[in-house]
Amino acid sequence: MYYPPPAAPQPFLRPQCAQHPDREAIGICVVCRRPICAECSTPIEGINRCAACVQALAPVAEFEATLQRDERPELRLGNVVALLVFGGLIFLVLLGVTYCGGG
Ligand SMILES: [Zn+2]
Ligand SMILES: [Zn+2]
Repeated sequence: MYYPPPAAPQPFLRPQCAQHPDREAIGICVVCRRPICAECSTPIEGINRCAACVQALAPVAEFEATLQRDERPELRLGNVVALLVFGGLIFLVLLGVTYCGGG
């Protein structure tokens, strides 16, 4: 009986980049599970994401950055002061209307 050598290298079994079939993949995108090469991999926070998924995440990152900018305490304090002043003006106007109308 003749057994063929099982250790024959098969190139198509090696992981290849989804964007560059001629390049070897070094990781897998955690979002779409596609193999990605070193150029396509853009590790953010230690997580491999392909270029397409990073672009999909870009608006979310900008949105989160906007939220962080809006949460500055001095900005919220300014809003509270403006609200108090506005509410006080309305209270004074209503008080004057009630005083004049009820007289
Ligand atoms: Zn991906
Ligand atoms: Zn690639």
